[in-house]
Amino acid sequence: MFENLTDRLEGVFKKLRGHGILTEENIEEAMREVRMALLDADVNFKVAKDFVASIAEKAVGREVSKSLSPGQQVIKIVHQELVDLLGGDTQQIRLDGRQPVTIMMAGLQGSGKTTTSGKLARMLKEKGRKPYLVPADVYRPAAIEQLQVLGERIGVPVHPSSTDMNPVDICRMAMDAAAVQGCDTLIIDTAGRLHVDEHLMDELKEIRKAIHLSEILFVADSMTGQDAVTVADTFNQALEISGVILTKMEGDARGGAALSIKKVTGKPIKFVGIGEGLDALEIFHPDRVASRILG
Ligand code: GDP
Repeated sequence: MFENLTDRLEGVFKKLRGHGILTEENIEEAMREVRMALLDADVNFKVAKDFVASIAEKAVGREVSKSLSPGQQVIKIVHQELVDLLGGDTQQIRLDGRQPVTIMMAGLQGSGKTTTSGKLARMLKEKGRKPYLVPADVYRPAAIEQLQVLGERIGVPVHPSSTDMNPVDICRMAMDAAAVQGCDTLIIDTAGRLHVDEHLMDELKEIRKAIHLSEILFVADSMTGQDAVTVADTFNQALEISGVILTKMEGDARGGAALSIKKVTGKPIKFVGIGEGLDALEIFHPDRVASRILG
């Protein structure tokens, strides 16, 4: 992930390091190149523009620190801006508030909701939680079966949903069933569509009205780049999401969605999916990712 951007930035910084003193022109040229690199990485146009403007402002006329060369100082500023762009501090899901914790997964079909529900259940189980998987996609029998199979593989109970039930009733009943089974964390896998549609949004809003939700996590396929950002923004405006999970990050050499989504939606990336396996889910750490981008 981010390989293309890392290569491009490396080129820019190599040039900067070659200068003993950095003039305003040197910085301007470097920032032009950083902006082009971001745009080629499919970063949102306005995000790229603001990012570069903010760095230029900090880099020009800055007190020279004796321990760092001018080039190193610019790299340090870029690192900090990248951390901010990616969301600042790590934002984990809250498990200590109101119990049971209820997490609703929302997103388009194929984004990875069902797989990620299984991955998250596995991760939480390892942390000592008692997850309960709730299939609430009643339009695709395969989705219910898929979650049942995943639940069996990780040893997590799955609510016995069926396609003739309505998703709101499923969620209400699942709350009771989870309590009976001593489970403390519900992960609700909802239906997706190929495109955003009103019926889907209404259904998700109905669920939100019917039960208390601790988290609404928008699951986005990072390979879809700026489309993922636009759809996240739409979901956020309709539903007030609490965070984002970016899937298929291991195959995304550009990283445009990861770099734009927090700035555009205001909501943090909480996890990233990095493979099809059930262990391929990571907590998203902006500082580590920024360091990785800078090579
Ligand atoms: P849903 O329709 O949103 O429930 O999507 P699924 O969970 O069925 O996932 C769609 C496809 O994406 C499946 O083939 C998953 O194995 C795959 N998938 C999900 N997450 C990841 C990921 O992080 N990396 C990769 N490579 N594939 C993923």
